[in-house]
Amino acid sequence: MAKIFCVANQKGGVGKTTTTVNLAAGLAQAGQRVLMIDLDPQGNATMGSGVDKRQLELTVYDVLLEAASIEEARVTSQKLVDAGCGYDVLGANRELAGAEVELVDVDRREKRLRLAIDEVASQYDFVLIDCPPSLSMLTLNGLCCAHGVIVPMQCEYFALEGLTDLVNTIKQVHANLNKDLAIIGLLRVMFDPRVTLQLQVSEQLKEHFGDKVFDAVIPRNVRLAEAPSFGVPGLVFDPASKGAQAFVSFAQEMVARSRVM
Ligand code: ADP
Ligand code: MG
Repeated sequence: MAKIFCVANQKGGVGKTTTTVNLAAGLAQAGQRVLMIDLDPQGNATMGSGVDKRQLELTVYDVLLEAASIEEARVTSQKLVDAGCGYDVLGANRELAGAEVELVDVDRREKRLRLAIDEVASQYDFVLIDCPPSLSMLTLNGLCCAHGVIVPMQCEYFALEGLTDLVNTIKQVHANLNKDLAIIGLLRVMFDPRVTLQLQVSEQLKEHFGDKVFDAVIPRNVRLAEAPSFGVPGLVFDPASKGAQAFVSFAQEMVARSRVM
């Protein structure tokens, strides 16, 4: 059965999408069967996985409204398959922004995605969900499905404070909606060891969260930022880059951690 992880942080621009697509590619490269679900109406994870969001006939929106199954709506980018990193994509585009409103009146609205994933969970080793930068109904749908949350964060001054809201939301979802949910780990991203403050915050994180801080550290690396404009994860765009190598390590760490979950 698939292990299901949300990549979440209510802040925008912290590296959620970069983490999701590169982890998906890294896991696929390691022989894992992966489904990547884009829960952000911006559709960046869709585009960054080599899938044109404007061409999609069915998206996660149709799945949330029970107009399609994941089996019907998922697609795969041949570019990624050819690179040995192929994974399935349940894409998103602007249409998804409407789901928030359309789901207001429906029954068990926060469980829609979970029910859909149940149908395909046996076909995958990992399901990764890229969440939008908010604690909205969409993020809630993601959290209701997941065994764990991966929180990418930059080692900045307010990093710990920003975590409080997310940790509280996760606690509430755990208490009321999904007993399986836990924070799997904090992933330090866009890390620059030359900046003293980042080293200090990194140490603080380890003091507060112990082994919930992943060993893998993702450096600030321009190749990771360039890759989306070519419609591939950095791990495919420039496999030798420091950023790509860091995500290979992170994928290995996730495989190891998932074995003992
Ligand atoms: P989010 O999904 O949280 O909004 P993104 O993954 O889209 O964040 O990242 C925000 C911006 O930072 C993007 O332009 C992305 O290419 C860039 N970026 C993310 N991770 C890195 C990194 N490790 N090094 C350099 N740039 C990065
Ligand atoms: Mg994003």
